[in-house]
Amino acid sequence: MSKHVHVRLDDGLSITEDGVLIELSRCHCGATWTRTYRIEDGMFEP
Ligand SMILES: [Zn+2]
Repeated sequence: MSKHVHVRLDDGLSITEDGVLIELSRCHCGATWTRTYRIEDGMFEP
């Protein structure tokens, strides 16, 4: 296969009761991934 560069498409957000933001992303090729952020006093930290 030729080299494929994933394109992240926003697929939704969710926030746990612990204040962790979960970002869901996907690519048109079917790949999916999640990123989490801790929310403290309204600031986002990777
Ligand atoms: Zn892809």
